[in-house]
Amino acid sequence: MDSSMSWTATPDAALKQLRAFQPRAGQNYSAERNYDYGPENRSNISCLSPWVRYQLISEECILRETLACHSLANAEKFVQEVFWRSYFKGWLEHHPSVWAQYRSDVNRLIRQLEDKPELQDGYLAASSGHTGIDAFDFWARELVTTGYLHNHARMWFASIWIFTLRLPWQLGADFFYRHLLDADPASNTLSWRWVAGLHTKGKTYLARASNIEKYTGGRFAPAGLAEVASPVAEDEIHSLKPIETRPGCDPSGPIGLLVTEENCTPEDLAGQVEDPRSILGIRTNTDRSPLETSALANAFASDALTGALTRAERRFGAPASLAVTEDWTTALVEWAEGNRIQTIVTQYLPVGPTRDRINQARPVLQNSGIRLLEIPRPYDVACWPNATKGFFKLKARIPDLIQTLGLARA
Ligand SMILES: Cc1cc2nc3c(=O)[nH]c(=O)nc-3n(C[C@H](O)[C@H](O)[C@H](O)COP(=O)(O)OP(=O)(O)OC[C@H]3O[C@@H](n4cnc5c(N)ncnc54)[C@H](O)[C@@H]3O)c2cc1C
Repeated sequence: MDSSMSWTATPDAALKQLRAFQPRAGQNYSAERNYDYGPENRSNISCLSPWVRYQLISEECILRETLACHSLANAEKFVQEVFWRSYFKGWLEHHPSVWAQYRSDVNRLIRQLEDKPELQDGYLAASSGHTGIDAFDFWARELVTTGYLHNHARMWFASIWIFTLRLPWQLGADFFYRHLLDADPASNTLSWRWVAGLHTKGKTYLARASNIEKYTGGRFAPAGLAEVASPVAEDEIHSLKPIETRPGCDPSGPIGLLVTEENCTPEDLAGQVEDPRSILGIRTNTDRSPLETSALANAFASDALTGALTRAERRFGAPASLAVTEDWTTALVEWAEGNRIQTIVTQYLPVGPTRDRINQARPVLQNSGIRLLEIPRPYDVACWPNATKGFFKLKARIPDLIQTLGLARA
């Protein structure tokens, strides 16, 4: 993506971008990836994250295509970054209480804004790009206008939010989550926690003016940044939970295929899902936050799901419809009963708002005699058991995983 950034929510657009970037995924990426040259020049990074988020392109596809072009040694850095995503997804699966706590904190902090004028002023200045810190203000506006920020800018932004502006990290994460096209419950929440010193306990990330100056190519050198970053404290203990794989029972009786934002390439389930009677796509525009989600971010998510339904209809030869609703339980029960569906099949739903919705609907579906079958991706099944503590465990297993999953040419 060399000039104007734009993302079209289709698998074809994702593959085209991957192939255009591929030659630069080796040494070029390792040497250049930390530079944020600004929204007009993103040629040093892949810009694939919005597509990966909705699974319009899979991590497996990215890795396979990359390793068809480069040796693992040559593309090591890029490959590791792709596995960072898998690590965060797996880690949150093992620590779902972090997500629940984050959601409840955001609700509480947003309610408090009106009663705490100082907090509200600080929050409004930061989220509208009026703090007087030129770099930070630029990124706040860049995020709102484009739906994207470079990884280094995300780190600097989060660090300044927490340690210089002294705002709650959860409100910053919520601001990102409402605006990013790639907004992901795991990567976003856990990256903010990592900057705050909550993910790797006690280890914070401090944004320094000299580092910003170097890696923005001299575009910014902000003054007055915090010089120390004491870790944020929390009382909760988030213990490790075994992952509930919900192993597939064989679907029995007539099947309905459920498509959500968690997998917008349902055609990949062909072979595992046979002859669905009907296909339902379901989403809401309000699940990310009590505050408004940006129109840009909602439009990308909506396009991703609409396109997925069209392709699923073609691939499975069954009628597809879309429900945009706050009441998933009623929509699911009515759809299943109206089509005499006994088993709803969907891709495994990772921790996040979609899983929360389905967890609410699950008992009602059960009482109505409707089973819900979630099919996990072999890639996640292979990666997630290695995402229980730090990234190192998964990183050390990358060569094995690549081999086991058949991602590199022999
Ligand atoms: C505070 C903060 C919030 C973030 N929020 C999100 C988010 O909501 N969604 C999201 O996808 N990423 C998030 N990231 C991670 C990272 O910034 C983006 O994935 C990356 O900038 C996307 O750009 P790219 O596709 O060009 O990445 P590239 O550098 O080209 O990397 C290729 C792919 O690897 C994955 N990846 C790269 N870096 C990371 C990383 N540090 N963590 C996890 N996955 C990574 C992405 O899927 C990315 O598309 C966040 C990082 C920070 C510091």
